[in-house]
Order: sequence, then structure tokens, then C-alpha cells
Amino acid sequence: AGNRASRTPAVASTVIGWATAGSAGQKGRGVRIELVTGDITAEHVDAVVNAANSSLLGGGGVDGAIHRKGGPAILEECRALRSSRYGRGLPVGQAVATTAGRLPARWVIHTVGPVFSPDVDRAPLLRSCYTTSLAVAADLGARSIAFPLISSGVYRWPKDDAVLQALTALHAETTSVDVIRLVLFDEQTRRIAEQVSESFKHDP
Ligand code: ADP
Repeated sequence: AGNRASRTPAVASTVIGWATAGSAGQKGRGVRIELVTGDITAEHVDAVVNAANSSLLGGGGVDGAIHRKGGPAILEECRALRSSRYGRGLPVGQAVATTAGRLPARWVIHTVGPVFSPDVDRAPLLRSCYTTSLAVAADLGARSIAFPLISSGVYRWPKDDAVLQALTALHAETTSVDVIRLVLFDEQTRRIAEQVSESFKHDP
């Protein structure tokens, strides 16, 4: 398999840190967390995370872009998952993988972010999207993974807090994945992410 992240064309990226140990038996390995700007459907990584909705039948934003560019194979597998395991929908905070169709990735990991609420604290569910997606990726043997900023579009999560929850969740994990990219769609979001990430930076 190898690390497909190394084949990604040069993009401006900020490395914000290395979490410490890998999983059991991989002591001393570190996971690299990067911030990049761009379209997640162009990411050459083993696994691309989709900010899906419960229906798994597609939507707007990242979801629409992934299905448009990845082609019908992804939707077909999503339909099959609905029939077999997720007749009532994929629960918020959980994640499930399909192949990636024509995307330059091996798998798409679909996760359902919570809709932002000013009254109810749904941050644990948002963090769960990152940790369960990462666990699914590791189970598949993925070495690189790209996340969008889950819930920060149609689901209205404030971008700074969405970044904070993403980095909090990812930094707490030990994983066999080598490279984690957080893909910000535009420069403004990237600047927000850079600011939030300051508190996570440490020497490799
Ligand atoms: P959600 O429903 O979880 O809020 P969205 O897809 O609406 O998901 O938005 C999540 C984030 O992804 C937003 O910040 C949006 O700007 C961004 N986004 C939209 N399209 C893309 C894309 N092709 N690549 C990367 N990020 C994207």
C-alpha cells in the first residue's frame, strides 16, 4: 500500500504537530497533523472523510462534491449499506467506509456530524466523528487520511470551534495512521484554523 500522501502535489501546508506514540507495537512512531487549503476531492490520500448526512444518499457541500467527482460506485455502496446495516440511517458521530470510486483515494469514510445547537452541547458527537473515522481508517490499513471541517457548513458549527473540536479529538488519539490532513476549503477558514492550532503546536 504505502503512504499515498507522499504523492500529493506540493500544497501549502502547516504541520501543527506530532502526537506521540503510535498504537501498540509501533512505539516511537508519530502521527503528523497538517492543515491544508483546498478541495478535499483532490486529496491523494488513502482515506477521504465525507461530511455525510444520516441518509447516506448524498447532499450538498463536501458530500455533493465527493459523489460528483467519485462517481456512482460510492452511492451504490451507500445504498447497500442502508439496506444491510443502516436502514434507520447512520447515527450522528459514527462512521462507515466505502470505496472511493474515481477519487484519487482508496476509501471514503462517511461520517455524520451534529447540527450545531446553541442550547445543547453536541461537541462530544463532533469529536466522535473524528475519532471513529480515524479508527475506521486504521482498521482498513490506511496510512493517510483527509478530513473536511465537519459540521461547519450546512450544519452551522462556528468554524473556530469546529477546528478546536477537530484538533482536540485528533490530538488525543493514538493511531497507526501516519498523516492526518485537515482540509480547509478557503483561505479565511485556513486562517481561522491556523490561529486555533497555535495552542496545539509543539516541537516534533
Ligand atoms: P456539514 O453538513 O457537516 O456542515 P458541509 O459539506 O456543508 O458539511 O460543510 C463542511 C465544510 O466543508 C464547510 O466548511 C465547507 O465550506 C467545506 N467544504 C465544502 N466543499 C468542500 C470541498 N470540496 N472540499 C473541502 N471542504 C469543502
